[in-house]
Amino acid sequence: MATGNRTLLSSMGILYAVVLWVAVATWDKVTQPEVTIPDWVVLYSLTGFLLLVERFYILVTNDERINLESVYLIGFCLVYPIGVTAWAGLLYALISSIRYKRHWHTQLVNGTVWTLCALVAQRTYVLLSGSSLFTPNQLLAIIGFSLTYFVVNVVLLSVYFGLRKGLAGIRLFFQSMGTRFFIVYAVTVMIGILLAVVLQHSGLAGALLFTGLILLVSYTYRDYFKMANHFKELAIKDELTGLHNHRYIQSCVDRLIEEKRPFAFLMMDIDHFKRYNEVWGHVRGDEALKKVADVLRERRLPGEEIARYSGEEFAIVLPDYDLPQAQLKAELLRRAVEETSFPGAERLPGKRVTVSIGVAHYPQQAKDKKELMVMVDDALYKGKFTGRNKVSLYTSVLDEMKNDLAVQEEDEEIIRTIKVFLAILNSKDRYTYAHTERDVIYATALARRIGLPEHQIRYLRFGAFLHDIGKVEIPIEVLTKRGPLTREEWQIMKSHVEIGVNIAKPIRSLAPCLPIIRHHHERFDGTGYPDGLKGYDIPLEARILTIADSFDAMTTSRPYQRKRSMEEAFVELRSCAGRQFDPELVEPFIEVVQEIGLLSEDAEETYA
Ligand code: GH3
Ligand code: MG
Ligand code: MG
Repeated sequence: MATGNRTLLSSMGILYAVVLWVAVATWDKVTQPEVTIPDWVVLYSLTGFLLLVERFYILVTNDERINLESVYLIGFCLVYPIGVTAWAGLLYALISSIRYKRHWHTQLVNGTVWTLCALVAQRTYVLLSGSSLFTPNQLLAIIGFSLTYFVVNVVLLSVYFGLRKGLAGIRLFFQSMGTRFFIVYAVTVMIGILLAVVLQHSGLAGALLFTGLILLVSYTYRDYFKMANHFKELAIKDELTGLHNHRYIQSCVDRLIEEKRPFAFLMMDIDHFKRYNEVWGHVRGDEALKKVADVLRERRLPGEEIARYSGEEFAIVLPDYDLPQAQLKAELLRRAVEETSFPGAERLPGKRVTVSIGVAHYPQQAKDKKELMVMVDDALYKGKFTGRNKVSLYTSVLDEMKNDLAVQEEDEEIIRTIKVFLAILNSKDRYTYAHTERDVIYATALARRIGLPEHQIRYLRFGAFLHDIGKVEIPIEVLTKRGPLTREEWQIMKSHVEIGVNIAKPIRSLAPCLPIIRHHHERFDGTGYPDGLKGYDIPLEARILTIADSFDAMTTSRPYQRKRSMEEAFVELRSCAGRQFDPELVEPFIEVVQEIGLLSEDAEETYA
């Protein structure tokens, strides 16, 4: 037994003995004239009542309850000699602690505390009413009784928590005292006094009737709360994994935003899960989902919230995390899933079950819930576009652009419009959007390799990001057509470069990007569009982007073409050097791709 507990018990024991001694010494022989039951019968009955009602309580809310033992001790100590109540309380505490071996010390402390409160409060009653005869209309004495009961209880409980957990325990106890705490006290004392009235008029027979009524109330309430809890659980729980559900996590986000409390939001999606289901069936798929949920649950720290957000997506709320901490946590979870073995995972592209995780932060990045959700989705899909099995933070080339270029206030509106266009493009053709992200990475890497100055690289990045924005005006049927395009359709498709220039033109600070957007479909031999520029007349940044763009198109499956391997794509690049591509850029590009690896490694399932 812990030293703390032993000290606690000894202190309680000593305190109890002292009060008991005082009580017995002043054994109050004044009983009601009509009550003639011998003391031993009362003692026997009260102990019996206490043991009977021990398992019953009346719930006021889910976590505040009226303990019926205290009600009986209050009732009896007001009507019968207090020595009887004292002995019955002690007897009950002992029997109960033997009965509940596991929680014996809680039982002993509870029984002791309740008895002491009742006894001391009764002394106040006698003091204020001037008689030990209970009369309910002695209002002042009854108020004194109630207040004393409350104060003694609070003092004893803070001693108890102080002994167990020190000052922090006492602080926590006082912090937990809400309005409900006072209501529970008031109701406990009132029911106790009601029992006293019953006892006074009808003695133990009245107490028996009272007990019947109180047990019925307790039983009904308990049932009601059980049912309410059950429904509450159902409403916020995901049946398959036992985690919380979409609704619950939404309410967590709402609550934190309302409290203006910072938090990180993680969205996790299992990679290639469709494939897993196709190969092993949905029953095994469900088992895998449960296993992923277990991995998350095992690593959950207090305060963190985890939910199954939808099918095979999980959302995690990390209150008070900053971005680097959240990234670390996400990485830990990603690795944990990767290291867990799943039966049949060898049939997946990476031979393991892996997850991609998007991370966004409130309020550092998003200022409201809607923005947070868009950002975390964006981050997640960035991870999906660039190889999966990774943690991606939300970053926006557009935001970067806004900061880097010191965009004028009047241009902000246009940037917002571009954001909307990108969102539309994304919903029309996810491939184009994903492809743009990879183009930015490939083009930047090549530009660095050939030593392009940083300020030029910056424009190249923005140009690469916006190069297909004109596709927003291309009809969706043309954009996603499976067969070859007709001559007219091809003309429409080609117009995207000029439309793109027109969209970006109003932003003066983007002027250096316009040639990149306009010329990214020119060919080195002069047969490209829209201007048929040849060789080094084509701006260098556009030549860089052309290679990145074509390479990514080759290594991703599209409705009309088979995906090529990295090596096959290198062969194609080399064979087109001097015709489609700047011959001096092909080799450096191949070198950087060999270093950074293929970004679209296994993108085919989702976008094909
Ligand atoms: P990606 O790497 O791009 O995420 O590929 P994916 O195949 O996982 O694609 P996506 O996330 O779009 O696929 C969701 C798939 O998850 C569809 C469905 O087969 C599977 N799935 C969704 N809900 C459940 C579920 O409750 N049980 C099972 N067994 N499978 C589910
Ligand atoms: Mg999914
Ligand atoms: Mg998935």
